[in-house]
Amino acid sequence: MAQVAMVMNLDKCIGCHTCSVTCKQTWTNRDGTEYVWFNNVETRPGQGYPRGHEDQEKWQGGWHLKHGRLVPRSGGRARRLARLFANPRLPSLSDYYEPWTYDYENLTTAPLGDDVPTAPPRSLIDGRPTEVTWGPNWDDDLGGGPEHLAGDPVLRKMNEQVRHEYEQAFMFYLPRICEHCLNPSCVAVCPSGAMYKRIEDGIVLVDQDRCRGWRMCVTGCPYKKVYFNHRTGKAEKCTLCYPRIEAGQPTVCSETCVGRLRYLGVILYDADKVGEAASVEDEQKLYEAQLECFLDPRDPAVARAAEESGIPHDWITAARRSPVHALINTYKVALPLHPEYRTMPMVWYIPPLSPVVESLTATGHDGEDPAKLFAAIDSLRIPVEYLAGLFTAGDPAPVEAALCRLAAMRSHMRRVNLGEERDENISRAVGMDPA
Ligand code: SF4
Ligand code: SF4
Repeated sequence: MAQVAMVMNLDKCIGCHTCSVTCKQTWTNRDGTEYVWFNNVETRPGQGYPRGHEDQEKWQGGWHLKHGRLVPRSGGRARRLARLFANPRLPSLSDYYEPWTYDYENLTTAPLGDDVPTAPPRSLIDGRPTEVTWGPNWDDDLGGGPEHLAGDPVLRKMNEQVRHEYEQAFMFYLPRICEHCLNPSCVAVCPSGAMYKRIEDGIVLVDQDRCRGWRMCVTGCPYKKVYFNHRTGKAEKCTLCYPRIEAGQPTVCSETCVGRLRYLGVILYDADKVGEAASVEDEQKLYEAQLECFLDPRDPAVARAAEESGIPHDWITAARRSPVHALINTYKVALPLHPEYRTMPMVWYIPPLSPVVESLTATGHDGEDPAKLFAAIDSLRIPVEYLAGLFTAGDPAPVEAALCRLAAMRSHMRRVNLGEERDENISRAVGMDPA
């Protein structure tokens, strides 16, 4: 099977939100979708958008994941039944979006005093002067305070010492769209059959004519990337700009990304392995299991089988040249977001290497020597433990390997650009030198 997939390089995201705005202007600039951001850019650590979307316990209602299957929570029979038929637990509108501003008046009119005046945030809804306590990218402003730490489920799992070292505060941006999963739970839970995954390119869409507004998809998507249009009474979601993809153009978010950090490409995968890979018991093995599902399009036997199964020749050529395939499978620098959700997401991320840690710069190194980076891996400004919580269900090894490869590549390219001698080992390892 073929799938359009995306890799985002988090080292390059500056949090400008251009992608979110151009996506909104194209797709959700309509009545009923005011609160909807098919593409959003979250501050990490932070609560994300919608607020607390990673808190699976909160959203799964009467169900929980056991050995890769959704099963009813334990409890008495009556309690279990009540939970099964309970209304889905949905994020409320305030979890998505509440526009706010600051009380700037206070900054300019506050009387002179020992303390610096502050500008408390307040709601813009209906001009109400109410103070607000949260909004998308709120975490930028909290900058590592206690509330900031309490709201992030990945940080919550980390050890106390790391969490409370405020002087080690860190942040980066995480752009998110629908993952167009290989094993999409939104499709599995839809009682109307309105959610579907296209055979030709794996894009997950909602058939607006069949949707009956049950909103099981909103509950069932662990990434909370299905939205309810309150005007039409139907579910809506990121379409991966399929009309543009069909015309050979990139998605709007990719084309307008200021950091040029989004790579689009075709992946070939073995559909028979997906179910098995999604049910692997050990969560930390899920990343490897997903890798096992991908096929090498340069293998003539794979290309032949793909063509026999009806995949167009152009797509197989695209898979061969796909930067996504290279970043995920060849270089192994891109990792899936929350593989423990078991939906097999198809938007992968290159973890952020910056900022360069003090322990390296103090010794005169700029963090680009992979050996030095590996020696200091436990004291990186963005803890590997945190990145592993996002991308590998807690297994630090693939994250460490990706960071060291990125450091090696960065120093290699710097040498090449300065006209210095190539490191042939690195060239060969990253496929720059076919010899
Ligand atoms: Fe469905 Fe959510 Fe996966 Fe998108 S991210 S395909 S909405 S389960
Ligand atoms: Fe990040 Fe690119 Fe979006 Fe700007 S446009 S926020 S750089 S992903």
